[in-house]
Amino acid sequence: MSEIAVILPDGTELAVPEGSTLQDVAYEIGPGLGDDTVAGKIEGELVDKVTPVADGDRIEIVTDQSDEYLDVLRHSAAHVFAQALQRLYDDAQLTIGPWTDEGFYYDITGVDLDEDDLQDIEDEMQEIVEEDYDIERTTYSRDEAVAKYEGDNPYKLDILDREAADADEISFYEQAEFEDLCRGPHVESTGQIGAFELLNISSSYWRGDEENDTLTRVHGTAFEKESQLEEFLDMREEAKERDHRKLGQELDLFSIPTVTGPGLPLYHPNGKAILRELEQYGESMNDEYGYDYVETPHLFRTELWKQSGHYDNYVDDMFLLDVNDEEYGLKPMNCPGHATIFNEKSWSYRDLPVRYAENGKVYRKEQRGELSGLSRVWAFTIDDGHLFCTPDQIEREVDDIMDMIYEVLETFDLDYEVQLATRPEKSVGSDEIWEKAESQLESVLENSKMDYDLEAGDGAFYGPKIDFAFSDALGRKWDGPTVQLDFNMPERFDLTYTGADNEDHRPVMIHRALYGSFERFFMVLIEHFNGKFPLWLAPEQVRILPISDDELGYAHRLKNDLEDNDFRVDIEDRSWTLGRKIREAQTDRVPYMVIVGGDEVEDGTISVRDRKEREGNDVDPEAFVDHLVDERADKREEPDFLD
Ligand SMILES: [Zn+2]
Ligand SMILES: [Zn+2]
Repeated sequence: MSEIAVILPDGTELAVPEGSTLQDVAYEIGPGLGDDTVAGKIEGELVDKVTPVADGDRIEIVTDQSDEYLDVLRHSAAHVFAQALQRLYDDAQLTIGPWTDEGFYYDITGVDLDEDDLQDIEDEMQEIVEEDYDIERTTYSRDEAVAKYEGDNPYKLDILDREAADADEISFYEQAEFEDLCRGPHVESTGQIGAFELLNISSSYWRGDEENDTLTRVHGTAFEKESQLEEFLDMREEAKERDHRKLGQELDLFSIPTVTGPGLPLYHPNGKAILRELEQYGESMNDEYGYDYVETPHLFRTELWKQSGHYDNYVDDMFLLDVNDEEYGLKPMNCPGHATIFNEKSWSYRDLPVRYAENGKVYRKEQRGELSGLSRVWAFTIDDGHLFCTPDQIEREVDDIMDMIYEVLETFDLDYEVQLATRPEKSVGSDEIWEKAESQLESVLENSKMDYDLEAGDGAFYGPKIDFAFSDALGRKWDGPTVQLDFNMPERFDLTYTGADNEDHRPVMIHRALYGSFERFFMVLIEHFNGKFPLWLAPEQVRILPISDDELGYAHRLKNDLEDNDFRVDIEDRSWTLGRKIREAQTDRVPYMVIVGGDEVEDGTISVRDRKEREGNDVDPEAFVDHLVDERADKREEPDFLD
């Protein structure tokens, strides 16, 4: 029998007989590992342990000690849910039920469930777990598999059609009376699911497409141990409290009303006050680093999108419209506009680098089912920058961009991860330019203060990139700043500059964003600060609370002094008790309250209270304003006048 070689996680090669499965490979490594094998990974994808390996595959063995074990266990919990559901509801139809980062879901139809029904299903699931049924893989021929679902479940037939069209053998997983069309992998028996909970119900569309049937999505989670489940549920409670959609409404920051369309956020004055601070902060950095501001409209003729390649690759996500028999598209990206501006002029190598900046609104038609608060929207603003430089200038430019991003991350005290993604198999551009670019990016990262992961082969087809992901207070990850080199767009737009040799050369284009998008960044900040924005960002920085109407005149003079120093100030002049006024300001998370009564007016002083519930009396108003000016300029995170 001929042999093939697989690559183990440490990079060594192992020769195994052709036709070996992942579990066979595990047995080659050691009998103990073979016995412990639950599943495996081929080229990073989690698959069943009986999957055959091919020559040159990078493989990993998954045991109950691996991180991936949790995914396997959660997928098994989804099956236990489906089994319990079918025991309780004869008409329930199953569609798909994958694991997720937070647990699992199953999309079902044929039953009308609400959250009150979940307890009964959980009780039935508990019995299935206690019975500890073996979970076994079996295979059927295509015809047998089709026969199981024909006339009964069009969704499973659709899966067989699309995903297993050429397979002669179809795998199912069975436990007691239950079976499900499934690729696996699974744990060995239902008893291995240590702790689980059904979380909530939402709706979804078949294949995520709103033109298809609406389905019911039941979300759940599962862990090996009860204590892990409890920790997760606590975190989830905390996340609900901090949810930017909830805080966005409570603090009157933004709304996404049905009447104006899905995924099209409206920023209220409070939200826009924060966005303006973010804009100004970004603009001050762009000025410092030599960017020129440009401005482009919201739509272009599709000729431009054809030239940029977006029309070929991106058209499903674009909003297109006909104007006088000519087709236009709302811009999904700002780059083609900026490339065109660059192209309107001839450049010498002495003029480079050229750096353009624009807070550009873009429009992308995400599936409606995917839209959520500010995290997935149809209209959003990128704090975009496009640089045009010579190949030798890449390192210096990227180094500057990394300094800017680093400053942003420090200012907001955000946790983050950095990835360098390099040349994928399919790419445009010469070997020479890729090598030059990748070595410059690596050198920037090596010299920076940041740890990074190398994702070999994960770059865009048009160039290597450095991506940042924020992790929020609850450990969730969000796309953040990015630096992408582009060897493609300069070709498509035939961008040139005259070199020292008097010949035409291609500039390299760099796309960069410091925040990513304002929407996503705003969402991260709302949840990161739990709505308690630092003084410089707070929509209302000071609220003045007069004890009675007698102090209104004094309150207005204080307000004017603060406004002369560009602070956002309000007076609480409703005829409420002081206690109620304080509680309201506390709920609104205003950094500072200034309390004035008869004594303060007489002495020309103020009482100060901060949102950390500390108080100071007999305060000199001028000293207070001076402190606030400093606190704002330093972008300090917490009010510290009363420290
Ligand atoms: Zn399954
Ligand atoms: Zn771009």
